[in-house]
Amino acid sequence: MPADTEPPAAPKRKPRRVNVRTPEVMERVQAEVEEHYRSRVVERLRSSGGSLTVGNTTVRLAKQFGFCYGVERAIDLAYAARRVFADSDIYLIGEIIHNPEVNRQLREMGIKNLVGAAPDAALHELGSEDVVIVPAFGAELSLMDQLESQGCLMVDTTCGDVMSVWKRVRQYAKAGFTSIIHGKANHEETRATASRARGGGDGHYLVVLTLEDCDYVCEYIARGGDRDAFLEKFKGAHSEGFDPDLHLQKVGVANQTTMLKGETEELQRRIAAAVEARDGGGEAGNFQFFDTICGATQERQDALYKMLEEPMDLLLVVGGYNSSNTTHLVEIGGGRVPTFFIRDSKCIGSLEQIVHYDLGQKGEVTSYSGALLDPARPVTVGVTAGASCPNNLIEETVLRVFELRGYSPAEVLGD
Ligand code: SF4
Repeated sequence: MPADTEPPAAPKRKPRRVNVRTPEVMERVQAEVEEHYRSRVVERLRSSGGSLTVGNTTVRLAKQFGFCYGVERAIDLAYAARRVFADSDIYLIGEIIHNPEVNRQLREMGIKNLVGAAPDAALHELGSEDVVIVPAFGAELSLMDQLESQGCLMVDTTCGDVMSVWKRVRQYAKAGFTSIIHGKANHEETRATASRARGGGDGHYLVVLTLEDCDYVCEYIARGGDRDAFLEKFKGAHSEGFDPDLHLQKVGVANQTTMLKGETEELQRRIAAAVEARDGGGEAGNFQFFDTICGATQERQDALYKMLEEPMDLLLVVGGYNSSNTTHLVEIGGGRVPTFFIRDSKCIGSLEQIVHYDLGQKGEVTSYSGALLDPARPVTVGVTAGASCPNNLIEETVLRVFELRGYSPAEVLGD
């Protein structure tokens, strides 16, 4: 080959995405999923307007709770993959959703783990015989590229709402805007989104979680500051080569889909004000934003605000402790009523003793609730659950509350 001739570019391998949602498969899958996660108690609560009273005990359920459309689809696809590729090794990138019960169920079906402390296989060992499920949060671009280049069969369950955020940050990168992502830097969805914010490779991003951190960024935007201190503070939360002196000139805000809506709006407002303060209000167009909180997250937050308008003795929020949207439901409840973030009904050890996740301490603690103690005293317990919580866990929680107040499942179900 002559020295000045470029070698031909390697042909780009076409991603091997498979559609496992054929009508015959889905019919069987839906029956299976329903069997695993269905709840008669939840159906009863729904049909009775979200409130169930037995004797002097009332349980109220938020109007919107539990599995969202994105999670339902992801679970359906994982079950379908197991049916379609009955004899293949199937791997999941991380957790399909943030709920230990659902992930345990998939593991029992022989779906293996690909990331974390003890993966079932090394990434580079996978090949064209292997099936890989991409979770509802999506996955980082580099990982997707690697799996596709190794020829793996991909069952992609990424939620459409997450992909909308990717579209937005790609547009920011194309227009020369840095994406400021309101979210948790180590959350799978945010990592996947951040990788798309690189655009063709020269785009930048900065992940901001709290309003305090947002104020720090705003101060830098408006008045500058110590570059090294900035980079140290946001270590692990910005793109490679990010320079706050260069890459905060034009910024676009996006968010992890499951954030608290009011907080995201406040963050947008503060960053817009900082850009305006710096540019004197005359330099239009250096700030953009797009509300990327998903509809399901919003509906669950709104439904909880609504339910909290009526008095209750305590609130139980059921869900995985690493679930972002569930955490925000706990924050909403926490300021208004005694709120307990429980993984499942086993956390309610007795009437007065509840094991729950403390957001401040970032761990499980045991608290005492006097509200349920006196059997003669009427109580109202509110229940809600994040978008990754199956109905059977909600049912067990409701039954546990009634059981501890002296009522049997038959009385609750009216059998
Ligand atoms: S919480 Fe929202 S973004 Fe996440 S899977 Fe559900 S619908 Fe999709």
